[in-house]
Amino acid sequence: MSEQKDDCLFCQIAAGETDTELIHESSSMVAFRDINPQAPVHILIVPRKHIQTINDIEKVDIVLVGELVQKAQEIAEEKEIAEDGYRLIFNCGEHGGQEVDHLHLHLLGGEQLGSLT
Ligand code: 5GP
Ligand code: ZN
Repeated sequence: MSEQKDDCLFCQIAAGETDTELIHESSSMVAFRDINPQAPVHILIVPRKHIQTINDIEKVDIVLVGELVQKAQEIAEEKEIAEDGYRLIFNCGEHGGQEVDHLHLHLLGGEQLGSLT
């Protein structure tokens, strides 16, 4: 069974079917700049496997989700924002503000981010 969904934007980006520049790609994930950046560094780290939301993660996906976080850490180092700090976000569902129904991790940094509380 395919792990991609034909009409999914992030499946298409991961498959190289758009002109989105990938800043990282491996057999399990891709990373690219957010088209509407909310901070000087705003990168999306996206598994190739079509998982709709955090709600849909199964036990078999736990290593993959850990790898997304690890890749975010590496990209933060590369972008020289690791020391000052950054924010990682998974939006989930309507109340979480998720707009693209394919799991993705936001990496935000490069400036003082607003408080969430
Ligand atoms: P969500 O709100 O689902 O957590 O985040 C989706 C993100 O994808 C948004 O920050 C939005 O700006 C970004 N995005 C939507 N469409 C595209 C696109 O075609 N290319 C890129 N690079 N980012 C996109
Ligand atoms: Zn998808």
